[in-house]
Amino acid sequence: MTLRLFNTLTGQIEPLVPADGEVLRMYACGPTVYDYGHIGNFRTFLQIDVLRRFLHLTGVPVRHVMNITDVDDKIIRNAAQAAVPISQYTAQYEQAFFEDLEALRIERPEVLPHATDHIPRMVALVEKLAAAGAAYRTEDGSWYFRLSAFPEYGKLSKKDLTGIADGARVDVDEYEKDSARDFALWKAAKQGETSWDTAIGRGRPGWHLECSAMSMECLGESFDLHAGGEDLMFPHHENEIAQSETATHKPFVRHWMHVRFLLVEGRKMSKSEGNFFTIRDLLLKGYKASAIRLALISVPYRHQLNFTFQGLTEATGAIDRLRTFRRRLVDTFFPPGENAQMQEAARNARAEYMAALANDLNTAEARAPIFDLVRAANSAIDQGQFLAADSEAILAVLKDFDAVFDVLEDRDAGPTERALAWAEQVGRFDDVAPELLARQSLTDEAIAALVAERTQAKRQRDFARADQIRNQLAQRGVIIEDSKDGVRWKRK
Ligand code: AMP
Ligand code: ZN
Repeated sequence: MTLRLFNTLTGQIEPLVPADGEVLRMYACGPTVYDYGHIGNFRTFLQIDVLRRFLHLTGVPVRHVMNITDVDDKIIRNAAQAAVPISQYTAQYEQAFFEDLEALRIERPEVLPHATDHIPRMVALVEKLAAAGAAYRTEDGSWYFRLSAFPEYGKLSKKDLTGIADGARVDVDEYEKDSARDFALWKAAKQGETSWDTAIGRGRPGWHLECSAMSMECLGESFDLHAGGEDLMFPHHENEIAQSETATHKPFVRHWMHVRFLLVEGRKMSKSEGNFFTIRDLLLKGYKASAIRLALISVPYRHQLNFTFQGLTEATGAIDRLRTFRRRLVDTFFPPGENAQMQEAARNARAEYMAALANDLNTAEARAPIFDLVRAANSAIDQGQFLAADSEAILAVLKDFDAVFDVLEDRDAGPTERALAWAEQVGRFDDVAPELLARQSLTDEAIAALVAERTQAKRQRDFARADQIRNQLAQRGVIIEDSKDGVRWKRK
């Protein structure tokens, strides 16, 4: 069975097969490690995990590269604010990213290159573009890509580029849709910023250059698939194509996959709207990692996903049903033999499941026959018409289901415990499910720190925060007493 996947470049659903007939070489734009990843980021990484797992299930070996962007505008700004080197700043968020991947059971890509480890390759690419007349240096020592050197610019996002002023430049990594301009390949060093001393001058790479250099280094000048969220189509991927194809004169990537964005309760997710969630936020609210995984993959990648708490609750219920059913199969003794109808139902369910995934990774349609099969099998068991070979056949279907969905094994305690340990470490007790809070006993130092924070909040007349801390401590069995000699606390 061959996966047919929508290709943004051609606008068609096309078979996705390795060009070399052996290994599918794919690159996914990875995280910029300047903060904790949010559920939108992880929706994209989860859908790429679905793709990777389905390729494996159909017997296609994969070489999957995902970069870690550990230098960019935001990282430099935030590290400077925190007064730490960028490597120290990014290390904490990279670790958090891997913890979240593990919580969501996202398989690790084969190669995880860091931008800062591949500077020489990026410099070599700029030199090659300069030699071809497609890159130029500005007075301050930055390097730009000359859009007019690549007449096919816009072929991925189908942008109309008429009216673009030749030589108009943009030096930020992410920019608005209407401003296709010569873009920065290399940014000259500014006072106090992290930079590298190289043959093209002192500076640092632009984000687009990073991905071109690392993908071609790890996968060759032409490879099978490039994936990312829909926001990356323009300018990021368009710029990657321009740089790479101008340098190599070869098609950069054959197949482009873009995952549509996630909304929260119908609205764009944003910190200021208060509808912005990380994976650890949801774990601390008491949702299980498996439910987050199922909720984020159950809507096919080309559809907008409207994330809701009701959706998470439904995913929790669906997983419970599947797990209970599987336990029933494993724990019950069924007489030898087979029920022809059950055998056929199992065969059909598997065929429908595989066909749905092969059809542009339609996860919603793939789920449905599995749940139907569970219903049919439960009623056959209730009626005593279920035999040992039926159990085997259905367990085999569930195994294939779980090869992609991976929610049947109960491994939910670990991620929740780790999220709680993290909350303790960073002092993040807001909005933690009471039953989780009650399980964590606070150390004397942690209590003293919270009491001090409350005193400080009161001093600043932030009474809401002060009350919140008092309530959180109370939930965790700690009573605060204000007296004229100061604040005392005791355990209940
Ligand atoms: P970043 O760390 O910001 O570079 O983003 C990592 C990945 O998450 C990229 O592939 C983005 O396109 C993707 N992404 C960002 N926001 C969302 C969202 N709301 N829904 C889905 N994917 C997203
Ligand atoms: Zn990229």
